Amino acid sequence: MQIQNLWSMKSAALVVLATALGGALATYAAYEFAVKAERMAAEQRFKFARAETVTAIEARMRNYESVLRSSNSVFEINEDLTRQQWQDFTQGLQLHRNFPGTQALGYSIWVSPENKAAYEASVRADGFPDFKIKPDGPREAYTSITFIEPMDVRNRQAFGYDMWSQETRRTAMSRARDTGEITISGPVKLVQEIDSEVQAGILMYLPHYTTSTLDDVVDRRAANTGFVYGAFRMGDLMAGIIGSDLRDIEIEIFDTDGSDTANSLYSSIESEDTAQQNPQLTATDAITMYGRTWQMASHSKPSLFARAGDVGLGQAVVMASAGASLFVLILVLLALNTRRRAAEIARRMTRDLDQRTEELSASLRRQVRIEDELRSLVTTDTLTGLANRSAFNVWLKEVGKQNHQSGVFPTKGTNGGYGIMMMDLDRFKTINDTLGHMKGDELLTAVGTKLKNELPDTCKLARLGGDEFAVIVADDEDQTQSLELANRIRNLFSDPFDCDGRYIKTTCSIGVAYISADMPNPERAMSQADIALYRAKDSGRGVIKVFDETLEAESIRRATIEDALDGALARREFHLEFQPKIGSNGGSVVGAEVLLRWIHPDMGFIPPDMFIQTAEETGYIESISAWILDATCKQIRTWMDNGVTDIPLAINLSSQQLQSPELIATITNTLRRHNIPPEKLEIEITESMLIDDFEQACRRLKQLREIGIKIALDDFGTGYSSLSYLHKLQVDVLKIDRSFVGSLDTPQSKTIVQSIMTLAKTLDLSTVGEGVETVEQAQFLRANGCDEMQGWLFAKSLRAEDFEQWIADSEAMSTAAKLAVV
Ligand code: C2E
Ligand code: CA
Ligand code: CA
Repeated sequence: MQIQNLWSMKSAALVVLATALGGALATYAAYEFAVKAERMAAEQRFKFARAETVTAIEARMRNYESVLRSSNSVFEINEDLTRQQWQDFTQGLQLHRNFPGTQALGYSIWVSPENKAAYEASVRADGFPDFKIKPDGPREAYTSITFIEPMDVRNRQAFGYDMWSQETRRTAMSRARDTGEITISGPVKLVQEIDSEVQAGILMYLPHYTTSTLDDVVDRRAANTGFVYGAFRMGDLMAGIIGSDLRDIEIEIFDTDGSDTANSLYSSIESEDTAQQNPQLTATDAITMYGRTWQMASHSKPSLFARAGDVGLGQAVVMASAGASLFVLILVLLALNTRRRAAEIARRMTRDLDQRTEELSASLRRQVRIEDELRSLVTTDTLTGLANRSAFNVWLKEVGKQNHQSGVFPTKGTNGGYGIMMMDLDRFKTINDTLGHMKGDELLTAVGTKLKNELPDTCKLARLGGDEFAVIVADDEDQTQSLELANRIRNLFSDPFDCDGRYIKTTCSIGVAYISADMPNPERAMSQADIALYRAKDSGRGVIKVFDETLEAESIRRATIEDALDGALARREFHLEFQPKIGSNGGSVVGAEVLLRWIHPDMGFIPPDMFIQTAEETGYIESISAWILDATCKQIRTWMDNGVTDIPLAINLSSQQLQSPELIATITNTLRRHNIPPEKLEIEITESMLIDDFEQACRRLKQLREIGIKIALDDFGTGYSSLSYLHKLQVDVLKIDRSFVGSLDTPQSKTIVQSIMTLAKTLDLSTVGEGVETVEQAQFLRANGCDEMQGWLFAKSLRAEDFEQWIADSEAMSTAAKLAVV
């Protein structure tokens, strides 16, 4: 659209130039034309500005949605959520900054008349002596805002308010309760409005239930215990979107649902602005979401006609929103204590930030600030105050980078080496289960404090998560320091720990490994220490084990595979299998993923996860990958020629392929050789493949997309996908990792999947759910807007002949599977 604008402007300018040279008649005609051209350009700018605003409003509302969903998951994970925990969580979100317009985030609970007195008494006992459900008076049932944050002057007004008692709120709440969906209310005056600057407010509700098996309205009503809700002030909400007077339009928003009169939600027009009384262009757009429809009336400002071109603010707003939803996703991952993922996040975020700070445009600066804060948030362990796994990984990297002169460590070993220790409390789970999580946390805190106080400053200590701690210390090859330290740590456990008056005795197991100065990859030492720890645990309590080669059966297996790979391709031990991808709406086969299969004459089937990495490390992957590409294209051609199917086939790229300068040429040549249209081939990559040379990978993928090949980001959610990654990568598809789909019975995974869906929507990417095995998983994915699915529920990966059969045989898919997608 902008190019068009530019063209019309250019032609207008040319015409104006011509008039200066031509006669009077020509002048008149040209003037007419220029005015028309300018008018058309302005109309286009007007249309564009409206579309941008609608997109920005929708994106903002989706962010609020993610906030509510993540809040809900906090309740689901923690049945007895305390006020403090709720406060911590909401503070982490930094509502005012990251989600402008949010007046309150809270929880409203059902209270029956019989329980009213007891409920009020319990809140009073919680430190609110004046608390009561408002407004006064007997009613059939009450809801009460029982949690509300931030607990400021305004929100104190709303604490205890029975939203059900008021019609507009009740309508939205009952719709939420009966449908299980998020709803928004019509305009209300928020109870929080106490001063003169009153703005229209809206409420967003997410119903909370005791159980997840809810078949109908009756079930939902019975299981509804309350609502997670957000209160938003429309003026503040819109100010974040409309921003300054950079805009060339004024807008007014009305809620017209269920009433004859339009209820104003927002207006950007200053009442004394007379210039705005006769706008040249006016239009109305409908915005439908969360069960309500808003009408947005836009009016052009005089500046719209004076300006050529657009600042493209919309993109910035949308990207900032995407950032916010990603931010929520990250917070959720952190809150859920998926520490492996959190560690991954921190690691990538750190390098990512370094790389991109300079390249970020001004509009994304806010995002950087958020990530900066996140970085500090993710380097300390909130429970013990020690460094956490992310920080530990950074140290490890430091150690690897400059083995000899790391600024991080006060001293260094005689040979520039380091000792690494992983430790883990014995029977911690039992303690947690029998004494409760509170005591478990207290014990961890006590252990952390003791370690911090007793260990010398020369070593670096971190809590990796759970009951796992780790230490790095400068050491020599004999590991004298490490062993001495390990013994000292073990002795620290000879006395019980004081956990708020209760003494708990525990022991710890320790695994020790050595990072020599020439070790290219200290993370390897970490897994060695892990292996040693594993063995220590195996041999009883309070054991210290030092890693040595015999512990590493892994390397033996690797060597075997390496040998077997030699010549495997020539001996035709590989074949391809195909796993269908099913459209979530209608259940048609929309594509298939190509999976490599290796049948070894002696060892039998060897799964790809067991050999792909070795093949990459040894270089065998190159010829294997070339063969996969060729065989896949051949298959596409055969199936198209024989009328079997013309669905696209997706191949998994190896990281080496992505790094190869020949990739594009190889692919185009292969496509040409088999006479295949590029849209019949798709490519799956994983985030981990992008780490080494992101810029280059980006360029390659961009080229592939330009040819017409679709790109899917595989195993999405298992790594850290920063906003700039996704933005720059320009992928088409996100494949939601099967680990989330496989655990959709947990609220955590549900939230993660929903957050990913929100993110995908914001960035306009399509989604594939992987590893779908049950009807429930399929239904959940479908209900949350996932476009396609893949998994054993529909079909396992099939050999070409079987795939043909499967396609031909309409009975091949189980009825249950079919029902889940039609
Ligand atoms: P991936 O790309 O995530 O592939 C999907 C994996 O999920 C496949 O495992 C598939 O068999 C499995 N899967 C599909 N549906 C289900 C399900 O319902 N439940 C469960 N539990 N699993 C399901 P597979 O074939 O073992 O492949 C593992 C990984 O090996 C792949 O993960 C991919 O990263 C790699 N790989 C496979 N084929 C190739 C290839 O041709 N080239 C390269 N470079 N990598 C490959
Ligand atoms: Ca894949
Ligand atoms: Ca995958």
